[in-house]
Amino acid sequence: VSEKTIFEKIRDKEVPSEIVYEDDSVVAFRDIDPKAPVHVLVIPRDKIETFSQLTGWDDAAVGAFFRRVSEVAQRLELDKGYRIVINCGAHGQQSVDYLHAHILGGRQLSWPPG
Ligand code: AMP
Repeated sequence: VSEKTIFEKIRDKEVPSEIVYEDDSVVAFRDIDPKAPVHVLVIPRDKIETFSQLTGWDDAAVGAFFRRVSEVAQRLELDKGYRIVINCGAHGQQSVDYLHAHILGGRQLSWPPG
């Protein structure tokens, strides 16, 4: 049995986090090191490691996840806009091996990313 990632521990309430939304398919919580005034992470309850592995999900599951990301963003009332980021793998600078979507907002963001 491999060691749980920090996000599994957050999902399972084994470590504290500031959860902003949860239901039977996702958990959304504030990033501990926010890169914008609003920085929330959304994880699916069913763990997969990376965005690449979404190819193993059926369309309904993928759709449910992305709909939740949109709903969480709506709850955060980022009416001037926001950015969704999913880092994937080493080149994408993914640091936690549990799929997560970043919701970043509350300030003017720049483009392109580094
Ligand atoms: P990534 O680089 O895309 O894998 O993003 C991982 C994110 O998880 C980073 O923005 C971290 O600040 C965040 N993070 C790491 N540990 C925690 C934690 N215990 N609670 C909330 N966010 C965390």
